[in-house]
Amino acid sequence: MMKLAILGATGSIGASTLDVVARHPERFQIVALSGHTRVELLAAQCQQFRPTYAVTGNAADARRLADLLSALSVKTEVLHGPLALVQIASLPEVDTVMAAIVGAAGLAPTLAAVSAGKRVLLANKEALVMAGGIFMAEVQRAGACLLPIDSEHNAVFQSMPTGYMGDFAQAGVRRILLTASGGPFRATPVEALSAITPEQAVAHPKWAMGKKISVDSATLMNKGLEVIEAHWLFNAPADRIEVVIHPQSVIHSLVEYADGSVLAQLGNPDMRTPIAHALAWPQRIDSGVAMLDLFAVAQLDFERPDRLRFPCLDLAYQALRAGGNAAAVLNAANEVAVAAFLDRRLPFLKIADVIAAVLDAVPQDAMADMAAVLEADRQGRVAANNQLVKYS
Ligand code: NAD
Ligand code: MG
Repeated sequence: MMKLAILGATGSIGASTLDVVARHPERFQIVALSGHTRVELLAAQCQQFRPTYAVTGNAADARRLADLLSALSVKTEVLHGPLALVQIASLPEVDTVMAAIVGAAGLAPTLAAVSAGKRVLLANKEALVMAGGIFMAEVQRAGACLLPIDSEHNAVFQSMPTGYMGDFAQAGVRRILLTASGGPFRATPVEALSAITPEQAVAHPKWAMGKKISVDSATLMNKGLEVIEAHWLFNAPADRIEVVIHPQSVIHSLVEYADGSVLAQLGNPDMRTPIAHALAWPQRIDSGVAMLDLFAVAQLDFERPDRLRFPCLDLAYQALRAGGNAAAVLNAANEVAVAAFLDRRLPFLKIADVIAAVLDAVPQDAMADMAAVLEADRQGRVAANNQLVKYS
């Protein structure tokens, strides 16, 4: 029986994880769940899965959850706040942690799971973008098992040689090709992009996801963050990671080998496939996802990304090449800019401008420890908020 903690259970990835778990009651037991604000949903999840612990964002929500659970006669213990997330991520009775909190808030508990040597299913890509070097060193030190949930990285993992140890040359790997749907504005003329609303930006053509990652997909920053994520997960140099626009989202990514072979993972675009893969790895289990019908797909298209219309992609490559604190600063600026856009305080096209200005404004620095990561995050947020003043 695998004993699971799910960080971010009330989100899109969290719900998909519970969907897969519910199909295999003999395999998985939920020990802890976290949700930030959606208390009713968290209560319903506790009623169904009976975890030992549930964590909310603040004390008021914890009281509300405790009341709801007591009315339902559910005996889950309710905790709250960032330290409680770290606590459930490192419980001795938990062997596997799904890290599915969105953004920088997920870093501390995800890293705690790594430090505790858990099997960590990583959806929270921002943790690796912010602190990749420290994070991967800690995976090694603690002997954690890190499995990628992001569909592209899960596809790369599946297409790499078994036991790949982070050495391209030794594995005969030449390049990683990360596919991208292109988002909802792939074919939208640049003139029309200036008037894009949050509602249009979160309506993704292929994937149903949380708001932040949906906006990131619309700006292509999501792919930029994924390039950085791939760098750390697979020890891949920036110039060996190529982004390929593939509107059907059937090929989830590819690995190119020295002999000319290209291996890929295909499937319907449904996150339950990578989630089930990582939950059961190295075995395979039913995920609830319909089998891919190649005759219905009929055609697969590929394009180069339009780097002028979507400058966020190159901003991410720039931050990766710069090293040090740059990716943490980029991530912080992006989180602030996306939140401002969702709040109608920043036009869509200015998201990239804010991030570019922040990368210029915050001095380059080394990033040796977690204190430096948090400082880079803080500086990126301050500089981004300074930029937002221009648009208010
Ligand atoms: P979501 O917005 O649907 O869910 C986010 C979860 O995080 C919720 O449970 C929420 O309660 C929790 N949360 C939000 N802010 C928090 C805070 N400050 N402290 C503690 N918890 C907080 O997001 P999602 O789409 O499920 O994405 C989650 C992560 O997975 C992101 O990092 C995203 O990039 C990544 N991811 C998502 C998908 C997808 O298909 N949704 C695909 C690949 C990667
Ligand atoms: Mg992805």
